[in-house]
Amino acid sequence: MISPRLEIDCRKLKHNAQRLMGRLSQLGISATPVMKVTQGDPNLAKLFIEAGATMLADSRIDNIERMRKADIHVPILLTRTPMLSQVERVVEHCEISVNTEIAVIHALSLAAERTRRSHGVIIMVELGDLREGVMPNLLEKVMRYTLSQPNITLEGIGANLMCRHGVSPDKEKMSRLSELVKALETILSVSLPVISGGNSANLLWATGEHKASRVNHLRLGEAIFLGKETLTQTRMMDLHEDVFTLYAEVIEVNRKPSLPWGEIRKNAFGEYKKYHDRGEVNQAILAIGRQDVYPQGLTPPKGIKLQDASSDHLIVETADNSLSVGEEVAFSLDYAALLSAMTSPYITKVYA
Ligand SMILES: *Cc1c(COP(=O)(O)O)cnc(C)c1O
Repeated sequence: MISPRLEIDCRKLKHNAQRLMGRLSQLGISATPVMKVTQGDPNLAKLFIEAGATMLADSRIDNIERMRKADIHVPILLTRTPMLSQVERVVEHCEISVNTEIAVIHALSLAAERTRRSHGVIIMVELGDLREGVMPNLLEKVMRYTLSQPNITLEGIGANLMCRHGVSPDKEKMSRLSELVKALETILSVSLPVISGGNSANLLWATGEHKASRVNHLRLGEAIFLGKETLTQTRMMDLHEDVFTLYAEVIEVNRKPSLPWGEIRKNAFGEYKKYHDRGEVNQAILAIGRQDVYPQGLTPPKGIKLQDASSDHLIVETADNSLSVGEEVAFSLDYAALLSAMTSPYITKVYA
């Protein structure tokens, strides 16, 4: 088998997608799988469509074009506000994008007019996490502008929390979003079909106390791929947390001192490490490193302890000297590790 490799259990992934979309649909919320952690992997996009997804989302136009080239024809939502320099590609490949800037909405309109397309816009509102979003007092102005633009449809309002400052998408924030929707629908005499409340951090709220809210859409990445809601990193329902497994190969096994010797300076990554003497240890080196993956996000099997990583080497210790050269070690991955592994050209993806 090729090493290192990332094995993707398609049956488990499909189960996660079906269960989450099904549960949320019972609650009146449509969930759109967000593909970005997979770079818009067309195999997985097809799997989500089989699981019932009627729309897909990604943050990057490159990933979206990859899906389009692979004959993915469902509507696609761009979840990062478009670059002014990419509006032509956005209207060509995405039916909807999230937006916050009047200049971009205008450029999308011109691009859509030129190519006789229509493009849907969701206006993102700032609710306190201080990433993307129009300040609430400016929403009316931006929405009026959007309504005035030819070939542009105002699809609704969205919000994103958790990602920068960890501000929770709780009942209070979602009520605030619903109030804004209600007020703006009245002022502008429109009805907004899509109220996109957030991401995988919204799931505790959504499956708990969302009843009185107007939120009818969520954008879900991590929960589908890793089986957890992200507010407390807790497994949900009967979702699988082990869709992905990373395999790396042992290239050296030795009994070595735990204490380095010689004059100690900062290491190759500018880190100065403090060591204490634990006597001799069973050290093994795996042929994977920081050029492949974000090592802090890897969890080794029981009995194996991750010690250090350099560009190409991952150093582990075992209590019982159980590893041998040529053997593979299987790691589970958190979101950061998955993002880096999926993006790495050195890690082969295997669909199981
Ligand atoms: C990535 C992203 C999502 C999906 O987030 P998860 O935490 O992976 O569910 C949703 N919305 C926006 C705007 C995003 O950038």
